[in-house]
Amino acid sequence: MNVFLEKIELHGFKSFPDKTVIKFHKGINVIIGPNGCGKSNIVDAILWVLGEQKIKNLRGENNEDLIFAGSETKKPLGMTEVGAYIKINEEQLYIARRFFRSGESKYIMNDKYCRNRDIQDKLFEINLGGKGYYIFEQGSIGKLIELKPSEKRMLIEEAAGISQYLERKKDTANKLIIAEQNLETVENLLGDKESRLRELKNQVNYAKRYRNYQNELARHLKTLYWLEFNIYNKDFKEIKQKIEELIDRETLLSKDLNKNQKITIDKEGIRWNLEKELKESQRNLFETKSKIIENNSNREKLIQRNKFLEQRIHELLNRRKENENLISENKIKVEDIVMNKNELESTSNKKKTDIEKYKSSINKLREELKKLNNDKNLKSKSGFEVEFKLTKLKNAL
Ligand code: ATP
Repeated sequence: MNVFLEKIELHGFKSFPDKTVIKFHKGINVIIGPNGCGKSNIVDAILWVLGEQKIKNLRGENNEDLIFAGSETKKPLGMTEVGAYIKINEEQLYIARRFFRSGESKYIMNDKYCRNRDIQDKLFEINLGGKGYYIFEQGSIGKLIELKPSEKRMLIEEAAGISQYLERKKDTANKLIIAEQNLETVENLLGDKESRLRELKNQVNYAKRYRNYQNELARHLKTLYWLEFNIYNKDFKEIKQKIEELIDRETLLSKDLNKNQKITIDKEGIRWNLEKELKESQRNLFETKSKIIENNSNREKLIQRNKFLEQRIHELLNRRKENENLISENKIKVEDIVMNKNELESTSNKKKTDIEKYKSSINKLREELKKLNNDKNLKSKSGFEVEFKLTKLKNAL
């Protein structure tokens, strides 16, 4: 198979911010530049686009180290992309890988998005997959020369593709061991199965004998059942007749039963009415009892009231007695007062006669005064005396 890397395109990869296309020609290709100009970055780009997953192998700490980090004149970029054009015989293969600062990655094969796995399968087909001995980095040749002969042999075998067959040989040997173990297991199983087969053969013999016995048993049972059938058939006829008689009896009994059921229904009706009446009576009884209880309580109240009234009458009788005593006392007092009144009336009559006397005296005196007044001017001195006497008499009256 003729495999040839024709060109790679870098965009934003490490020290290549702008799109950079590097074409390879048949024979030896050389990139020349001063230290630190980015020669090894191109090798890193080839490794990366071919699917390298370890960032350390690309001389970085993390994936973001692969994106152009900015320079004095240029701003950092947000993504990087590397594409590789590989010619396989006459066929053209394009693979590309993208990585964004957000962490998203994309793989492209022949202008279609795909998985890294798909690219790896394709590269494996063209012997570009695996450990990548087709790239010797700076210092690798020196390391190769310093290797021990056994290590060199391993490396050369791997690079020549023999190791792959050695691996397969190892795998096959392992598989052979597993197959031998399986074979042993199968032999053990076979041994088990043979003893089981013997057991089964014995069981088959037992089964055959069992079936013969069963057949013989069935034959005997048939005879036995036939004999039993004859006996039971006779019994059956008798029993059938008895059953018919019983059915007739049952018909009669069911007629009776219907009649009784009708009576029972009527009685049920009566019972229902009686129960209703009983309930009514119970209700009346309950009401009567309630009334009795109420009357009893009223009677009790009346007895209390009666007692109270009796006590009150007793009190009033006592008071009446007291009042009668008072009346008789007052009667005596009234009699005394009447007597006093009579006495006073007689005294008053006496006084009245006295007053009449005094009045006639006064009239006399007035007449005298009149006479005296006539003699007043004449006898003023004696007038005064008379007037004095008159005043005295008035006061005495
Ligand atoms: P030497 O001959 O000394 O090995 P070189 O030519 O192989 O050097 P590289 O090692 O490929 O150079 O490149 C190193 C340069 O790449 C450094 O100048 C470094 O600043 C630059 N570089 C690496 N990663 C980035 C990045 N992510 N963004 C910008 N520049 C980067």
